[in-house]
Amino acid sequence: MITCLGRIVHDSDAESKLDDDASTVFRSLNLQGTIENGDFSSIASKDFGRLNSVKPLFLIKPSGVEDIARVVKAAARTPHLTVAARGNGHSINGQAMSDGGYVLDMRSTADNHFKLMTVNGSPCIDVSGGALWEDVLTRCVSRYGLAPRSWTDYLSLTVGGTLSNAGVSGQAFRYGPQTSNVTELEVVTGKGEIKVCSETQNPELFFGSLGGLGQFGIITRARVKLQQAPDMVRWIRVVYSEFEEFTRDAEFLVSRKEGGSFDYVEGFVFCNSDDPVNGWPSVQLNPVQEFNPSRLPQTAGSVLYCLEVAYHYRNSDHSSTVDTAVSRLFGRLRFVERLMSTVDVSYMEFLLRVKRAEEHAKANGVWDIPHPWLNLFVSKKDIADFDRTVFKNMVKDGIGGPILIYPLLRSKWDSRTSVALPESEIFYIVGLLRFVPKGPLVDEKVGENREIVNWCISEGLDFKLYLPHYRSKEDWKRHFGIQWTRFAKRKASFDPKAILAPGQRIFKRGT
Ligand code: FAD
Repeated sequence: MITCLGRIVHDSDAESKLDDDASTVFRSLNLQGTIENGDFSSIASKDFGRLNSVKPLFLIKPSGVEDIARVVKAAARTPHLTVAARGNGHSINGQAMSDGGYVLDMRSTADNHFKLMTVNGSPCIDVSGGALWEDVLTRCVSRYGLAPRSWTDYLSLTVGGTLSNAGVSGQAFRYGPQTSNVTELEVVTGKGEIKVCSETQNPELFFGSLGGLGQFGIITRARVKLQQAPDMVRWIRVVYSEFEEFTRDAEFLVSRKEGGSFDYVEGFVFCNSDDPVNGWPSVQLNPVQEFNPSRLPQTAGSVLYCLEVAYHYRNSDHSSTVDTAVSRLFGRLRFVERLMSTVDVSYMEFLLRVKRAEEHAKANGVWDIPHPWLNLFVSKKDIADFDRTVFKNMVKDGIGGPILIYPLLRSKWDSRTSVALPESEIFYIVGLLRFVPKGPLVDEKVGENREIVNWCISEGLDFKLYLPHYRSKEDWKRHFGIQWTRFAKRKASFDPKAILAPGQRIFKRGT
């Protein structure tokens, strides 16, 4: 039921006192947006994970920053209410939910900002925290021929949602995560204050909010660095039977200087079988090319590795120039010969590639099923051990979805942000992106993820969860390690009553 503020109707006398308190508070506000009663059918009670569901008190669609500040202040005046900013709800474990509290649908603010500017001679764009990256891409390329430098694989995610985590894809080895590619934020703190922050203005709030899991403020605007968008992308996959050769080549590519490497480097694990989701067919970019397993060496085991790279070029580049440049980059790599898959696509098609997969999965009814995903950052020193135990053993038969693995460089991440990382310069992002039909298998897979994390802890691996999900304070303290004190101090400064992002379960609402 959608009502305008000030016209909240209570359904029954049984409605809790919470509702009375809330409607009283809301009547005193002057919101420009709208408000819906929270119930289990509300988008605010679900997320992409499909593992949790809670009932919010209200779902609010703010019209802008003033509405957001009013809602946070109103929550602060109560002894118990919390506020969750919901981006596009693509979390796995209820991180954008608020049980019995207010959920702000940030998508309603998506169009509030879109302004091109030049900062220190470089182009930047001001965008709303509630904007989807796919819209930022489309608008930047079509209007200005410019594009952000660092992406996520999938772009139906909001600017504020990915900046609250990190935002990682195959460009991060060169430009760092998305959190390394913003120069200014506008944020509503847990005190309901509207603050502009940057490296030099309110730096604690700026760096705290980046990778801050929504704990310090709600990002309402971000200034994102841009570069000239290429026209075309040559997208290539090559196959390895040996993990050591795959990691050596991937690390070689991410350690090269700009111009000496591809523009995008990722990779994934797949099964040495004809399984349509986890096996050979998952490698082919071009449906007319067939994967020929007879080209694999005799020594190939049950698990194989695919290195995925992309090379940017312009329409004006001659195809032989592109061929030469790509061959030169492949020159020193030791993949299995003649198991290469290649396709040339437009830059937009390349960046929107997961959208096509989403459309396909939706048509097959497999997009909206549970996703017990596990994402980790694992240090280079431990990745071979991880391969032996997890890839070659625990998940060797596939997981019903992609198993991503590619290296990143710590020096491209700003240690002043809130993101927790392993200690070594080279670390791998590992993503077990499971698609599991509803039923008992879901708990089994959640249990398998827990087993993997427990194994990493018990073996003393240098690792961190990405998009972390813990339930106890002790686990969160271990996750942040020596950064915990700084994280807790930032919380005390910017959200002392722990009103924001309760779904992360790090701090308890105080008075
Ligand atoms: P939500 O899930 O809505 O929110 C996430 C958290 O951020 C919550 O705690 C919420 O309260 C908080 N939050 C939301 N908006 C704001 C805001 N404006 N200000 C402050 N806090 C806010 N991640 C990668 O890095 N790389 C990938 O390639 C990648 N691919 C993905 C593909 C798919 C299909 C999916 C489902 C997820 C993927 N992710 C990837 C993970 C994604 O970055 C996170 O799940 C992110 O949180 C989703 O953004 P969202 O806008 O849906 O945020």
